[in-house]
Amino acid sequence: MNLIHNLSKAELAEVCLSFGQPKYRSDQLWQWLYVKKASDWESMKNLPSDLRDKLIDKFSLQSAVTDKIDGNEDETRKVLAKLPDGECVEEVLLVDGDRKTVCVSCQAGCKFKCAFCASGQAGFTRNLEAGEMIGQFLLAEELFNDRINNLVFMGMGEPFDNYDNVMKAARIINNEDGINLGARRITISTCGIVPGIKKMSEEGLQFELSVSLHAPVDELRSRLLPVNKQYPLRELIPVCGDYAEKTGRIITFEYTLIKGVNDSPALAEKLVKLLRPIHCHVNLIPLSPVAEFDGVPPDKETGPMFVELLTDSGTNATLRNSRGSAIKAACGQLRYAEREE
Ligand code: SF4
Repeated sequence: MNLIHNLSKAELAEVCLSFGQPKYRSDQLWQWLYVKKASDWESMKNLPSDLRDKLIDKFSLQSAVTDKIDGNEDETRKVLAKLPDGECVEEVLLVDGDRKTVCVSCQAGCKFKCAFCASGQAGFTRNLEAGEMIGQFLLAEELFNDRINNLVFMGMGEPFDNYDNVMKAARIINNEDGINLGARRITISTCGIVPGIKKMSEEGLQFELSVSLHAPVDELRSRLLPVNKQYPLRELIPVCGDYAEKTGRIITFEYTLIKGVNDSPALAEKLVKLLRPIHCHVNLIPLSPVAEFDGVPPDKETGPMFVELLTDSGTNATLRNSRGSAIKAACGQLRYAEREE
């Protein structure tokens, strides 16, 4: 059955029109879905019962329910969300003062096999529909019992491998008559799919873009992110530069620090040179160990040293902590663990 949350505002209006209903009925329905965030049809009291019956007949309202929760209510929680067909995906809920962030999945599994990612190891099952991503967002608000003020498409899956559905979900969540989450509070993260970055640069949107870099040289990057063989740095970096120029937005590059692999001063220097032409910020994150990858986090002093090398050379950089590693919050780990048990 089709998910009602798959429909854009215009599509919802068409559906209501096809049911012989005036335009304002679709506005009322939109309000129930995205302002009042109704989780059952019965509560939509101002809709005529024949419209509700038709909607119930054609559409499903529930797109994600909680299957399992790990973690601490005050900090990081990892949720296994069950989709209508029984498939499970992960989302991570992070609290940092007033900042409430949800990291949603866009695919069940992933094709890209990044070395230190459990999703990549577990294989690909299917793309998620827009409504299933919105469902994860609404589920997170229900679990927080509060509004989410940041959304990142950084869970399982590669957003640019499911481009249209991800953009549709982001646009619906951004719609000012509904959830109205600001575009700059929505981040799309990619492992470096060049055509996706090009396409997004032409959308005229203000969503944030984050690119997983992890190495400043091709040989090493191809080992960590096999997608680099298809889209090497000589293609990726110029496209990121074009994106920053066209949109006026700062790109974030994610760089996971792995001891003895990509954390040397020489590589920090290469990173500075590589990114010099781009208006960007580098997020340095110590590795969260996963069973399938034998890398370990850097020594305690390496992270601050690496960040200092970057900032001293004029590259904006921040060292983040890898919150959530204790609850398997590196992408794909919870779902993968479920499969293994
Ligand atoms: S890091 Fe992202 S793109 Fe890479 S395998 Fe994991 S989910 Fe896929």
